[in-house]
Amino acid sequence: MKYDFIIVGGGIAGCSIAHHLSKEFKNVLLIDRNLSIAAGASGAAGAFLSPLLGKSNKFKDLVTKALTYSVNFYKKNAKELIINKGVLRVFKNQQDEEKFKSYIPYFDFKYELKENGYFFDIGSKVDSIKMCEFLSKDVEKRFNLEIEKIEFKDDIWILNNTIETKNLILATGADTTLISEDYFKIRPVWGQRIDVETTTKVPYNYHKECSISSSQKLPNNKYLVSIGATHNIYNCDHKICSYCLKIPNISNKPRFTSDNEVSKNDTQKLLKLSKDILDLKDINVLNIKIGARASSVDYFPMVGELINSQETLLKYPYIKKGSKVPSQNYIKYKNLYLLNGVGGRGFVLSPFLAKQLVDYIVSKKEIDSDIITNRLFQRWARRI
Ligand SMILES: Cc1cc2nc3c(=O)[nH]c(=O)nc-3n(C[C@H](O)[C@H](O)[C@H](O)COP(=O)(O)OP(=O)(O)OC[C@H]3O[C@@H](n4cnc5c(N)ncnc54)[C@H](O)[C@@H]3O)c2cc1C
Repeated sequence: MKYDFIIVGGGIAGCSIAHHLSKEFKNVLLIDRNLSIAAGASGAAGAFLSPLLGKSNKFKDLVTKALTYSVNFYKKNAKELIINKGVLRVFKNQQDEEKFKSYIPYFDFKYELKENGYFFDIGSKVDSIKMCEFLSKDVEKRFNLEIEKIEFKDDIWILNNTIETKNLILATGADTTLISEDYFKIRPVWGQRIDVETTTKVPYNYHKECSISSSQKLPNNKYLVSIGATHNIYNCDHKICSYCLKIPNISNKPRFTSDNEVSKNDTQKLLKLSKDILDLKDINVLNIKIGARASSVDYFPMVGELINSQETLLKYPYIKKGSKVPSQNYIKYKNLYLLNGVGGRGFVLSPFLAKQLVDYIVSKKEIDSDIITNRLFQRWARRI
C-alpha cells in the first residue's frame, strides 16, 4: 500500500493537516476535485484573523486560543504570507459603543480606543491561496479528482475502488456527502468577497458589518483592498442536492448558475457596507470570489474520529433513552478522521485544530471535548 494517509480536501483545513502530518509521516496524499489548491471556500475567504468580542463563553475561548496559536504559527512558518497591521472594530452606533464598553473586562487581547472603535494589534490577514500552497508543499497532491466512494476492507480504506490508504482524513468542507451519518450535520453558508482597486490608502483592517483589509500598493499606484463578506443560506436539501457544492473551482465562477443576480446584489451590498466604514475613492471591482462555509449546527468545529452510530446503538441501545455510556466506548470508524465545521473562521481555527488532530493521531493526546463529534452524536441519539 502506497499511502499512510490520504487527506480529501485541499482547503485550509486539509492543508493545515497536511503541514502537521508531513512532519511525522512520509507517505501523505492530498486529493481535491478542484484544479488547484484552495479553490473552494478557502479561496473565497478574505482570510481576516480577528478577535471575537463579547462576554466569556466556550466558543469565544476557543477562538481566542486558536487566534493566538494561528497568528504565531503563520508568522513563524510563513511570515511573508501574513499581514499583521491590526484591526479596528468600529462601533455600529451609540448602543454598540456601550455594548463594547461592557465587553472590556473580557477583551483577551491588547487594545486601544481609536477613531470610532477599539483597535486590536492582533488583527491580521493572510494570503489564502499562497498560504494553502505553502502548508501543503511537502505532501503529494492530486487535483481534478472527485472521490465518489470510500470503503473499508481488510484494514484498508479504498477510494473510488482504486486508491488505497491505511488512514483516511476527510476535510471536505461544506460537501459532506462522503459521510453518511445523520448526526453529522453541516450547513453550507454561501458568501462573497470582492477585491477592489481604489485611490485610498487603508492603514489597517476595519470591521463593522463587513471587513475592509489594509491596502497593498498596485503597480499603477492605486491600492488593492479586499472587502468581505456576505452570508447567504439556501433552502436546498444538501443530502439530496449537492450540485453547487460539487462544481469545481467555484470560487472563480461567481456567476455559476442563474445566481448572477445574487452575485451582483452581493457586490452592491459589500460596497455599501464598506462605505459605511470608509469612503474608498475611485473604486473599481477587480475580483469576485464565492464559496460555501461549512457551518455546524452548534457553530463548534468537528475534529477527530467519526462515531459509527449504527454499531454504537446496536451495542448500547439504551443511549436512545438518555442512559449515559462513557464516550470512549462509542464505536468509531477505524482509521478515519475528520476536521470540519470551521464556519466563518477557517483561517483562525484550522492550524490550531489540525495540530490537535495530528497530536491525537500520533500520540493519542486527547482532543478538547467541545470539538469532538461525541456531542452531536449524543444529542442526535436521544432524539431518534
Ligand atoms: C466569502 C467568504 C469569506 C470568508 N472570510 C473569512 C475570513 O475572513 N476569515 C476566516 O478565517 N474565514 C473566512 N471564511 C471562512 C473560510 O473560508 C472557511 O472556514 C474555510 O475556507 C473552510 O475551509 P475547509 O478546508 O473546511 O473547506 P474548503 O476550503 O471548502 O475545502 C474543502 C475542499 O474539499 C474538496 N472536496 C470536497 N469533497 C470532495 C470530494 N468528494 N472529492 C474531492 N474533493 C472534495 C473541495 O473541492 C474543497 O476544495 C470565509 C468564507 C467565505 C465563503
